[in-house]
Amino acid sequence: MTDQDSNPQRRVLDMLHGRARKVAKGEPLAPPIINAAKYALPGAPDHPFPYGRFDNPGWQAIEDAIGALEDAPTICFPSGMAAVTAALMALVGPGARVLLPSDGYYTVRVLIDDFLRQHGIEPVLVPTRQMDSYDLSGFDLVWLETPSNPGLDVCDIKAICERAHAAGAKVCVDNTTATPLLQDPLALGADMVVASDTKALAGHSDVLFGHVASKDDTLIARVRQWRKLSGATPGPAEAFLAYRGLMTLELRLERMCANADALARLLQGHASVSAVRFPGLETDPSYAIAAKQMVRPGFVLGATFKTEETAERFIDDCPAIFHATSFGGIQTSGERRARWGDDVAPAYVRLSAGCEPTDALLAAVSQTLDTL
Ligand SMILES: *Cc1c(COP(=O)(O)O)cnc(C)c1O
Repeated sequence: MTDQDSNPQRRVLDMLHGRARKVAKGEPLAPPIINAAKYALPGAPDHPFPYGRFDNPGWQAIEDAIGALEDAPTICFPSGMAAVTAALMALVGPGARVLLPSDGYYTVRVLIDDFLRQHGIEPVLVPTRQMDSYDLSGFDLVWLETPSNPGLDVCDIKAICERAHAAGAKVCVDNTTATPLLQDPLALGADMVVASDTKALAGHSDVLFGHVASKDDTLIARVRQWRKLSGATPGPAEAFLAYRGLMTLELRLERMCANADALARLLQGHASVSAVRFPGLETDPSYAIAAKQMVRPGFVLGATFKTEETAERFIDDCPAIFHATSFGGIQTSGERRARWGDDVAPAYVRLSAGCEPTDALLAAVSQTLDTL
């Protein structure tokens, strides 16, 4: 994996053709779903597939494909949270001080509070927009999520990595909202990347999946060991679904990013909407850093309506918006994040732009806005 080009298009080509280049005559192009707990293992137990918890050919197929995009060794997990847990287990020991975004994925903070605090691990919470100026001395790990979810603030990954390393801390970036195609934290200096591939990477809202990637051999060996010992292993059918979804990631992102940009501009100009957050809007506080470190500003946006009731009506009435949590799917979806207790305005709606034809999506959203 080390001889790969840093050109993102070349990485997509390698992702698409990596398996094709390896299959022998008569073998399927699609990775087979191998339901195996036992493998034949006569003699010394020194084969890569000794037992189902250690490895699976379907995991290797998706790890090679995601690894082509990350340009780094990759370990797959049965969910984003399984990947987050593995990353934390590999990165922190007793007494570690961990800097975390207060506006990042909520479950990560609960996991640390409920299970890691009792081992002396101390989380310190800071909003993403303050990460760029926060003093990193005394920390063992800096955890970033940028663009943050759901508030869509961004921080400067490269500058923070430089300061963190100078202070003796490692950096792990949750890259779920960007995917490796829109942002490359490892190239910006991060020690590790985690992602929930349940979102855009698998992309079809039909499977939970996750991965960890790192160019640090020691760290990646610890992540692999964690999966083997903890048993946080993906099912072979789930690995297949994630692989199949991944094959169209680049194509889907094209439409999703274009739709997000068009939606942001439509919502921004409408009387029912009081504020829009989208890192691609020139007026957005995230614009400058996003333009510097992201290939494109993504497919997630936020709109604050005049009232909570108008916000709910907008999501429920629009025939092109699926009212649900999560993001990154084929269908445009949205929800008021305050219903989960996120620190955003009650009338703030997070929208995830989908793959609908842009004009049809805009027409449906525009008509609904006019009825509010
Ligand atoms: C969804 C999500 C996770 C957790 O992923 P699951 O696949 O639901 O376990 C972690 N981080 C971020 C940023 C997410 O959006």
